[in-house]
Amino acid sequence: MVKIIDGKAIASQLRVEIAQEVQKIKNQHNIIPSLAVILVGSDPASEVYVSNKEKAAHSVGMNSVQYKLAAETSEKELITKIHELNNDKNIHGILVQLPLPKHINQRLVIATIDPRKDVDGFHIINAGKLAVGEIDDALIPCTPLGSLHLIKSAIGNNLAGLKALVVGSSNIVGAPLARLLMLEKCTVIVANSSTKNLKEHALQSDIVIVATGVKNLLKADMVKPGAVIIDVGINRVDLGNGKSKLVGDVDFDAIKEIASAITPVPGGVGPMTIAYLLKNTLTCFKNLQD
Ligand code: NDP
Repeated sequence: MVKIIDGKAIASQLRVEIAQEVQKIKNQHNIIPSLAVILVGSDPASEVYVSNKEKAAHSVGMNSVQYKLAAETSEKELITKIHELNNDKNIHGILVQLPLPKHINQRLVIATIDPRKDVDGFHIINAGKLAVGEIDDALIPCTPLGSLHLIKSAIGNNLAGLKALVVGSSNIVGAPLARLLMLEKCTVIVANSSTKNLKEHALQSDIVIVATGVKNLLKADMVKPGAVIIDVGINRVDLGNGKSKLVGDVDFDAIKEIASAITPVPGGVGPMTIAYLLKNTLTCFKNLQD
């Protein structure tokens, strides 16, 4: 029987634990861990993400401060705002919602965030710590952390010796997840859009994570019986009549007959990403106390 990995329930349990820790911090230090979220422009999807992040922070007792800046905000103005937040003792985590308008250099903006407050884990110092395996105080991107948690919920904590295929190699999802799996002693293959013989790689893998934004990329005939499948992709499918639904990158209905465990979309990786944003905010808080 396939296990449908319930990301919503696992994330909800994690949020209970985070809320308890926030309460402990309030009792011991009389401080509320606080997240600053900066949104430049008014992209509707980004506005929804930012508002969900704010709600999630409040739900565990954290503060969340939103800065909505006009689409015409200059790079210099944005950088000045980040410097202000870097120096603000009441702010522990800083998140700049991506993508930024084209006239702003994303790398420069991320590099301006104090690495100790880099909740998204995109700063080059945090990426470097993950690259060399110094992860004790590193901030690691939320979606890879959430995905790894889901893999362990299905298999257990010992992943050593398993073969993992990560399809997609972005700095936000695929590449950091591949590195985390290497640190777990998995044998990792990372695929991208130029990969040949994806099916052969997938058929040999005990764990397959798909993070591409290509719906139905992973099909049932590509899956080894008993494999664990993590679907990171989010694709909106038009159903007509002004209706739409979200689907992932894998053919869920067919693959659930073959896999031992699989994440649904929605309700799989998505809720874990938000839960790890909150957990990372706690890590930021702790880093700042040292
Ligand atoms: P990017 O567009 O940055 O990266 C996509 C990756 O997929 C690239 O490495 C690309 O390869 C690879 N790819 C594209 N097509 C294929 C293909 N046919 N075969 C193999 N590899 C392919 O996307 P992100 O990493 O930011 O996001 C990936 C997906 O995950 C999106 O659907 C996004 O919405 C979703 N997402 C979900 C989150 C969640 O919380 N659930 C959080 C973040 C993202 P190449 O490098 O060659 O271009």
